[in-house]
Amino acid sequence: MIQLIRGFKDILPEEVELWQHIEKTARSLFEDFGFKEIRIPILEHAELFARSIGEDTDIVEKEMYTFPDGKRGLITLRPEATASVVRAYIQHSLYAKDPIQKFYTIGPMFRRERPQKGRYRQFYQINAEVFGIDSPLIDAQLIFMLVTFFSRLSVTEIETHINSLGCHKCRRDFKDALSIFLSAASEKLCADCKRRSQRNPLRVLDCKVPSCKEAMAEAPSILDYLCDECSIHFNGVKNVLEKFNIPFVIDSLLVRGLDYYTRTTFEIQTSSLGTQNAIAGGGRYDTLVKTLGGPAQPAIGFAIGFDRLVEITDLKSADLGQKPDIFLAALGEKSMSIVFEWFCAFCVDGIKAELDLNGRSLKSQMKRADRLGAEYVLIVGEKELEEGSAILRNMNTKEQAAIPIDDIVERIKKELSQKD
Ligand code: AMP
Repeated sequence: MIQLIRGFKDILPEEVELWQHIEKTARSLFEDFGFKEIRIPILEHAELFARSIGEDTDIVEKEMYTFPDGKRGLITLRPEATASVVRAYIQHSLYAKDPIQKFYTIGPMFRRERPQKGRYRQFYQINAEVFGIDSPLIDAQLIFMLVTFFSRLSVTEIETHINSLGCHKCRRDFKDALSIFLSAASEKLCADCKRRSQRNPLRVLDCKVPSCKEAMAEAPSILDYLCDECSIHFNGVKNVLEKFNIPFVIDSLLVRGLDYYTRTTFEIQTSSLGTQNAIAGGGRYDTLVKTLGGPAQPAIGFAIGFDRLVEITDLKSADLGQKPDIFLAALGEKSMSIVFEWFCAFCVDGIKAELDLNGRSLKSQMKRADRLGAEYVLIVGEKELEEGSAILRNMNTKEQAAIPIDDIVERIKKELSQKD
């Protein structure tokens, strides 16, 4: 039998209910904060990611699914969403109407990483991006929105980590200091980091190899190199978080694996996930719009790891499940043809109905109704039809009563609406 590819997964209907609930919660909260949905393609030119995420990052160096597409050259299954959202912002001149734009997007991303718990090759993200706002208030607001989102999903065991990567000016001085440190620590670094310390020293800061992590504990801190403007900006973010009572940890190693970040970076971590402990991450990318050919516009965004969120939320699909309002149990062919019409009428009217079309015994139909969690069962046999009635059973109270079959759909609709 052909199995799915390692690192990929099916999301089965009973799990989808939880996914839908999370998605609905995100849409409703983000839209209240003024975000609009944007949908972007899954395939893009490989160059878009190389230029934005950076040539010397793990993602671009070894994790992208890239393949030739005839004359179009190399195309890539998107490893993240920000680059595409920025491309769309520029390509459609969305800044011309109003440079301030807030978008969210939900969908699959692809990275050829070593699969393990919480790390997949196709995974899903919920992204939010804000263009055109420089103020640290928006940085803090995004973190506030994230924390609120997690609390709505009963995910409370979280820790917010923040850092500032400064601007080009402060980064230049920091990179010099870091390079000096790295050449002295070179013996302790992994082969990738030895190479990176020459080309892109910042990347060494978030290497997960234990010996590199140990060596980097002594590394100079970017926070000691922030220029006055970046320092004031970072203090602004911290002050607002304090005002909103959002606890945070300052983490000077938080550089977040992608080259485009400037100033604030943040990550929401959880203790419930083992090594893959980040459930969301983001930051400012004030120079990316210009780098990709647009106007100079500041921007900031985040991505939530949807799969990881599903794994840690205490909400269970069973609590959210779509249960039928009514199960129609028809006994005999004549009843079935009448009940079938009622069933369709219920569904059209937005009442969740279920009907067993296989002509099974009343006992097995009742069992199925119970298993599906139906609130009511309507039992219709030949005898009931002759008497012009059907039996409505409340599955919670176990009470049942005969009701006339004329206008039955309306009668039951009324009964159900009174219950609400
Ligand atoms: P990033 O785009 O790398 O900043 O990641 C943002 C979030 O996406 C992370 O905090 C994770 O929760 C999630 N994520 C990233 N890579 C994976 C993966 N391979 N499998 C599952 N979730 C992931």
